Amino acid sequence: MPGGVSSPVRAFRSVGGQPIVFDRVKGAYAWDVDGNRFIDYIGSWGPAICGHAHPEVIAALQEALEKGTSFGAPCELENQLAEMVIDAVPSVEMVRFVNSGTEACMSVLRLMRAYTGRDKLIKFEGCYHGHADMFLVKAGSGVATLGLPDSPGVPRSTTSNTLTAPYNDLEAVKELFAENPDAISGVILEPIVGNAGFITPEPGFLEGLRELTQEHGALLVFDEVMSGFRVSYGGAQARFGVTPDLTTMGKVIGGGLPVGAYGGKAEIMEMVAPAGPMYQAGTLSGNPLAMTAGIKTLEVLKQEGTYERLETTTQRLIGGIIEAAKEAEVPITGSSIGAMFGFFFCEGPVRNFEDAKAANTELFGKMHRAMLERGIYLAPSAFEAGFTSLAHSEADIEATLQAFRDSFAAVS
Ligand SMILES: *Cc1c(COP(=O)(O)O)cnc(C)c1O
Repeated sequence: MPGGVSSPVRAFRSVGGQPIVFDRVKGAYAWDVDGNRFIDYIGSWGPAICGHAHPEVIAALQEALEKGTSFGAPCELENQLAEMVIDAVPSVEMVRFVNSGTEACMSVLRLMRAYTGRDKLIKFEGCYHGHADMFLVKAGSGVATLGLPDSPGVPRSTTSNTLTAPYNDLEAVKELFAENPDAISGVILEPIVGNAGFITPEPGFLEGLRELTQEHGALLVFDEVMSGFRVSYGGAQARFGVTPDLTTMGKVIGGGLPVGAYGGKAEIMEMVAPAGPMYQAGTLSGNPLAMTAGIKTLEVLKQEGTYERLETTTQRLIGGIIEAAKEAEVPITGSSIGAMFGFFFCEGPVRNFEDAKAANTELFGKMHRAMLERGIYLAPSAFEAGFTSLAHSEADIEATLQAFRDSFAAVS
């Protein structure tokens, strides 16, 4: 396997060292093949918001398994999960299930283009929308609007329609609209960034994008693959009160099985085949196992007080991390929303990817190794958000903060 992993983010390239091979996961913990236990703040990169291998999810899966793993035909469970998603997410009136966040984002882009009859799109530097060609443009400041691909194998012709702007920069978006009249199909963004480290939208940014897109006949798309059902039951759009035209989802709604989804206004979604002419399909889409894990996960999340608990746990964690850094006289800026958190080793504020890249990544690497030695599994990159779950107890948080204090002392 290239690099020894099935997905590059799992390797330890940017922090140094070799990736840890897991044997099993449960609740807030992961055990490696040597039997070492870690308190896990990645949660399979998002899905494990109820805790790993939640007993209700596992029991439901066992029952569903007996009825078969894939029907290749409509199943009742798809309707159940669709209804739950539509009830929860303000922008979603109609939804299509796919098998990953990548697939959701590439499908939503086709839909943006099909519906508007325009080819260009605007994305933001540092935002990740899966690995489809058209989104693999990060474009540093010099090439900000040139649409140069980030990866060999992505032809320029594929990304020439991808325009980029710095996050939290409405003026840059305004300029792109002015420079490309009637050519931009829409704006896609992570309403809370988790793939450039944890970066929050400044007041007015999401609202401004909502106005700008409307003004220019373009669509607003929230990529809530990460923030969906994590920062509130209705995602970032419910939390901030800004409703996009279309939304992509994944991670939590699959409860640990491969799922993605895209949805939005019925009028737009009616474009999707077979209701409309825009083709998009999938052999295993909406399969009963993935739907079951998603339904059970949302049922657990829907119970009273879950998001308050997640919020409290996460705030205690990030508050404690910041305090520990300050005691060690390490510059830090960090925050949390719902069950998502992040910090950068710099004075801050971090408003966009440029700011994020200026943080001390060498110190992050050292801290990552020091925390691992103390049984804490953080994302192996300074540019990833952290995730908590309902399974993280007060004792887990306290143990984690002690490890932070000890690690700061060890590395500084
Ligand atoms: C993880 C992620 C994706 C891609 O999802 P996969 O299931 O890994 O293909 C897309 N967008 C965002 C915001 C993500 O966090």
